[in-house]
Order: sequence, then structure tokens, then C-alpha cells
Amino acid sequence: MIKNGYVATAWAGTMTSAELEKALAMNCIRCASERTRKDGQTRLGGQRWRCNDCGRRFTARSTSAFSHHGFPDDVIALAVRWYVRYRLSYADVVEWFAERGLVVDRSTVYRWVRRFLPLFGEAARSHRRPVGGKWRVDETYCHLNGKWTYIYRAIDQDGQVVDASFSERRNARAAQTFFEHASDETGVRPERVTTDKAKCYPPALRAVLPDVEHRTSKYLNNGIERDHGHLKQRL
Ligand SMILES: [Zn+2]
Repeated sequence: MIKNGYVATAWAGTMTSAELEKALAMNCIRCASERTRKDGQTRLGGQRWRCNDCGRRFTARSTSAFSHHGFPDDVIALAVRWYVRYRLSYADVVEWFAERGLVVDRSTVYRWVRRFLPLFGEAARSHRRPVGGKWRVDETYCHLNGKWTYIYRAIDQDGQVVDASFSERRNARAAQTFFEHASDETGVRPERVTTDKAKCYPPALRAVLPDVEHRTSKYLNNGIERDHGHLKQRL
């Protein structure tokens, strides 16, 4: 299945899915071999690869600073951003996640901030922008803290994480909570929201953002790993 939204959209007209699949395959991070194959998924829903030559297993984030952290990149990035941007305490960050349905420990947030703040500061220096008005929203199912959870998340047109929220269910209520939080916390009412065709979105948008232009795209069904490639490259 083709999952990479941006790439698939750009190339859909010119490549067969087999060619695209090949173009998206990862080279081995240890020996750079191109002879790699898909090897199941990680707990966070990311694609895992295995090298046919050296046997090493890896993912798109194996070489990034996020490797070996038990939470998705977005969650870590948001925790750090909230902590700094809103001058929250660690306990506040824990509470903000709890409001969005995710239990995170205070000491975990502390470790993320210590570890990632200097890296983000470095990476973000020349790219600082307010949240934009064109959002791509999707939901991902993954295994966090011993529970299966949906993550609703949005990125803006510059690829910045807007917000994320967590729900045991995928329904209009969960999507609505997500849009309310995202809009309240950023102070931005998006002019355009692009989602996949999931049924949860139209009623949620009618309730929270009745004036927004809603676009749907069948290529939006991304895993959580995908859209932050440019961020990860800088880490
Ligand atoms: Zn290898």
C-alpha cells in the first residue's frame, strides 16, 4: 500500500505503485545497501526495514534523535514546545496531555525537555513561524503506555505540528475534541483543513469550524512517522 501522502500525490500520475514503492524504500543505515525489505511495523505504527546484506533492522527514525523513545515524534515535540512556548511547568504539560487523553509521567516530560530542547532550538532557529491556516489532519492508531490509542494530529502548510490529541475511539466526538483543542491552544482558526475520507471529520468540522474549507484526499492516510522527515533530518 502506498502511504507517503506528499510523495504519492506528486508522483501518482507518473509512476506505477511498484516503482513508487521502490523509490520510497530505505537504504540500509549501516551498510547503505539498497537490498532492503519491509519487516513489519513498530509499536508506534512506523515501517520497519531489514537489510538483506547485513541483516540490520531499522526504521526511518533509527538515525534520528527520536530513536528508542517510546512515544511518537509529534508527542515529544509537542511536549517540548508547550513547555517552552507557554512557560508551563512539567506538571502543566502532564495535565495538557491528560486533557487530550494521554497519560505521560512528569519525569518523562522532564527527560524530553532536557534531551530535545537544545536540539529543537538548534533546528528551529532559522525556521520559526506562527502556526499557519492550512492544516492537514489525520489519525493514527498506535500502542502507547500499554494501550491502543488513536492519535489525531495536524500539521500546517509548513509541516509544523499544530496539535495532537489522543482517544480510545475514532469518532466525531474525538475529532471534535481535537479541533477544539487545536484551535483554542494555537489561537488559529484554519481556513482550510485537508483530511482523509474518514466519517468522523465532516460532523466534527461542522460543529467546531463551520466556515472552514474541507478537502479530502485518499492519500492522506499517513503513519505518524512521515511528514516530519525534514525535521528529523535536521536533528
Ligand atoms: Zn546493511
